[in-house]
Amino acid sequence: MKLTVIGCAGSFPAPDSPCSAYLVEAEGFKLLIDFGSGSLGNLQNVIDPHDLDAVILTHLHADHFFDACPYAVMRRYAPTGPYPPLRIYGPENTHQRLVAAYGGEGERHCSSLTDVYDVHTLKPSTFELGPFSVTVDRVTHPVETYGVRLEYRGRSLTYSSDTGQCEALDRLATHCDVLLAEAAYTEERENPKGVHLTGKEAGECATKAGAGRLLLTHLVYPWGSAETALSEARQAYTGPVEVVRPGSVYEL
Ligand SMILES: [Zn+2]
Ligand SMILES: [Zn+2]
Repeated sequence: MKLTVIGCAGSFPAPDSPCSAYLVEAEGFKLLIDFGSGSLGNLQNVIDPHDLDAVILTHLHADHFFDACPYAVMRRYAPTGPYPPLRIYGPENTHQRLVAAYGGEGERHCSSLTDVYDVHTLKPSTFELGPFSVTVDRVTHPVETYGVRLEYRGRSLTYSSDTGQCEALDRLATHCDVLLAEAAYTEERENPKGVHLTGKEAGECATKAGAGRLLLTHLVYPWGSAETALSEARQAYTGPVEVVRPGSVYEL
């Protein structure tokens, strides 16, 4: 499978990166994991966005789902359309939140967005999605949030989404080839528990799980830096580690 980083800025867009969005492809199937603010722009540099086959929203924070709204405009009103409803997976109330963010029930052409999205509610489970086996589990964040593990032909990619340290993430990451882990916090600050990881905590998870490679993401610029995240992660993990950038591609 191929992972392309579309956006990786944590919490709000950076001058040179949209918020979280990751394209994972195998056998021509195009799965977008998270659709954060600004990401629809950069997605167009990588694929024709109409070619998406499915979307997973790990949680309903703006930096992980807001661009599903302008994408609805693109899909609904495209001169090349209409396009069939796109499968989109998200936590409880994803459908209502999309409608509210899009413009509410009163919006003239809005109604229910059912012409654009076929919404599926996530629960901790394993399911087939195109060529992928997808496992999702609840991680630790102030709102209902899912970590994701994708498997394809014996290769595995685990994405932490936003989370504090938790057993669910350790399980999802067990012996994965690549752990894409957030590192929004730094050790030098006093951080609230159960919200985000530091680079060191991401490294600890990678070590505990036996991950083959660690990719750090969701850094909050300018509050953190790649140098800090990397040096923290290396205190706790001796495998290969790097900080992802928009446009980074990883073949698994
Ligand atoms: Zn976030
Ligand atoms: Zn979040």
